[in-house]
Amino acid sequence: MPTSSPPQSRPGVVILGTGGTIAGSTAAALGHHYTAGVLSIEELLASAPGLADIAQLRCQQLFSLDSVELDLPRQLQLARRVAQIAADPDVDGVVITHGTDTMEESAYLLHLLVGTDKPVVLTGAMRPADAPGADGPANILDAVTVAASPAAHGLGTLVVFGGAVHSGREVSKRISSRLDAFDSFHGPLGDVSEQGLLLYGRPARRFGADSAFELASLPESLPSVELLLSHPDMPASICRAILDSGAAGIVHAGPGGGNVATPVARMLDEARERGVVVVRSSRVGAGVVARNGAVSDTEHGWVAAGDLNPFKARVLLALALTQTSDVATIQRLFDTH
Ligand code: ASP
Repeated sequence: MPTSSPPQSRPGVVILGTGGTIAGSTAAALGHHYTAGVLSIEELLASAPGLADIAQLRCQQLFSLDSVELDLPRQLQLARRVAQIAADPDVDGVVITHGTDTMEESAYLLHLLVGTDKPVVLTGAMRPADAPGADGPANILDAVTVAASPAAHGLGTLVVFGGAVHSGREVSKRISSRLDAFDSFHGPLGDVSEQGLLLYGRPARRFGADSAFELASLPESLPSVELLLSHPDMPASICRAILDSGAAGIVHAGPGGGNVATPVARMLDEARERGVVVVRSSRVGAGVVARNGAVSDTEHGWVAAGDLNPFKARVLLALALTQTSDVATIQRLFDTH
C-alpha cells in the first residue's frame, strides 16, 4: 500500500508593511518621479511569486509612509509591534518592508531592542513597484528566505538587500541612486540566493536581550538628540540654535576622524556645561572615530562614536539618555553596543 508522508510544515513568517519605495508607484506621482508607500503589503506579496513555497505567510500593515517620516516614536512603535509578533509561538521569523532612506536607523534600534532569537529582517527597494526592473520582489523573496532559515536565528535584526545579508548595527545606505545601495563597514554577514542563506559572520557587539536596554521599560518618547553636521564655515548662530533647542544630546558629525573646528568646540563645551551629552562622530560615513584620537575627548568631556555613523550614534545616544547622562557610562555603552 503506498504511504503518503504528512505535508512538511513550512516556517511561519509575518510580513509587516511600513511603506517606502518598495510600496511606491509611478502612477500615483504628482509632479515628481513616484510616490512612496502607496501599495499595501498584500499587493506587494502578490508581485513576488514563490513565497508560499518557502513559508506560511501572514501580513500586517503598520504604516504606509515614506521612511523619512519614521521618527523615533514611530520606530519605537515598530519595535514594539515586531516584539509582539515574534512572541507568537507560531511565528518563526519576521520580515519588515521599509523605505531605504532611514532603514539603517530602524534596523539599529530594532537590533538593540527586540529581544527575540527569531530572525527579524528588514528589506526595501530602490525602484518603485511598477518601475521597469523593480527590485522589490527579489528582495522580498530573499528576506523571506532568511526569515524562514533556522541558521538566521540568534543574529538579531538583519537587513537583506541585493542578495547581501547585513547586521542591523553595521548596515548603512551608502549610494543614494543605485540598486546596491547598502553596505556595511565591516562587510555583510552573509549572502542569500536561490541556494539559500550562506553566513560568514556574526554580530560582535551586545544586542537584543543581551543589550543594556529593555523595550518594555522605555518611555513613549525618547530624549531629543540633535545632529550637527559640521564644516569649517559653520556660523556660530547655527550652533547656538542647536544649543538652545533643548536637546539632551548632540551628535557632532565632523570631517575626517571626527574633527571639531574651534568655534564649534566652544559651543560644544558650553553644551557640556549645561549638562548636554556630546558624541563626536565622523561625517565620512565609514571608519572609526577613536577616543582621544583627532581631539581630546577626556579634556572636553565628550563621547567618541567609534565605528557608529552619526545616524546610528543618534539612536544609541537617545536610548542611553533614558538611563544616564554620565559620560563614562555612555562611552562604555558606545564601546559595547
Ligand atoms: N523615500 C523612500 C523611503 O525611504 C526611498 C526608498 O524607499 O528607497 O521611503
